[in-house]
Amino acid sequence: MERDELVLVAGAGGFIGGHLVSDLRKKGHRKIRAVDIKPLDQWYQPFPDVENVCADLADKHDAYKATEGAAHVYNLAADMGGMGFIETHKADCMLSVLINTHLLLAARDLGVKRFFFASSACVYTADKQTEADVLALKEEDVYPAMPEDGYGWEKLFGERMCRHFREDFGLETRVARYHNVYGPHGTYEGGREKAPAAMCRKAIEAKLTGKHEIEIWGDGEQTRSFMYIDDCVYGTQRILESDSSEPLNLGSDQLVTINRLVDIAEDLAGIKLKRNYNLDAPKGVRGRNSDNTRILDCLGWAPSVSLEEGLEKNYRWIYDQVVSSSSHGKQATSSKRRTAQGEPEPVTR
Ligand code: NAD
Repeated sequence: MERDELVLVAGAGGFIGGHLVSDLRKKGHRKIRAVDIKPLDQWYQPFPDVENVCADLADKHDAYKATEGAAHVYNLAADMGGMGFIETHKADCMLSVLINTHLLLAARDLGVKRFFFASSACVYTADKQTEADVLALKEEDVYPAMPEDGYGWEKLFGERMCRHFREDFGLETRVARYHNVYGPHGTYEGGREKAPAAMCRKAIEAKLTGKHEIEIWGDGEQTRSFMYIDDCVYGTQRILESDSSEPLNLGSDQLVTINRLVDIAEDLAGIKLKRNYNLDAPKGVRGRNSDNTRILDCLGWAPSVSLEEGLEKNYRWIYDQVVSSSSHGKQATSSKRRTAQGEPEPVTR
């Protein structure tokens, strides 16, 4: 990718988008257009030296305006969150289809060279994820399709659109199926946070309040793998530049139980917690892991940051946010959220 070609990062006010913009800058990209529906003061990582645009990419006009002149598009924009959000906002999740549809149309019509779509491990069929001691998911396990309701169907449909825009219109599309990404500058409270951030925050609150208890959703024996943000950002760029037009898993293959995640959070906090299991809370599938054979074949690389190493960095960042927001008696700026349902801000370039 040429460093002086315009790169569009859609969803740049979010967790992964903010890190991607940060990394592209460090790599010397001089023309970056960062777009998000949220007002700029709610972006996790706004950078003054890039073109920041507040726009609703579900709107066709805004999507075309945002794509004008771009050689490469990263579509990371979606209305999403952890299990607590996606199990209760299925229609909102499905409406993200408008973002990908309008960005694909704009990319086709405005001569974009490469288009990246952030898909998810939630596309995988539920039948293959019924045991905690699960076989890691291979890319072909996605069919016959029975993905996570709402969010997973939207992602699978988005993947198929990318495929057919490539086959029928010659647009070079690339798709990564992210498996649980975590790290600093992401959501850690408010209902959209995912398990690693939630466990860190709960351990920190227990330490600060002296109330050494933690609520865990489910029995804690459900399994997942968690990818540190640095691996995600690196893999995303490698996949965009790769020859692999088929979707690739982008995830860690270090399978852990949620109880193990709590063990690590306890170690970081230096306390032991009484575990209260909420069996009625949203739990998602019983087990999920990433099979990294295909990404290793394609890129000669796969995510490698261990959960212990990554969670320590995440814990430290959340600790600072919690302490600073409680000392200011309000939410830290980075934790403020605005749903994609609100009135879009005008396009400001
Ligand atoms: P995020 O919620 O932090 O970022 C998404 C951003 O998209 C938000 O800032 C949001 O305001 C923006 N957005 C939503 N609707 C928009 C619209 N209509 N127009 C413009 N912007 C809009 O989420 P994230 O964790 O950074 O995820 C990025 C992408 O990766 C998403 O597509 C998500 O589905 C996918 N993904 C993430 C994970 C993960 O673990 N974080 C896992 C699988 C897939």
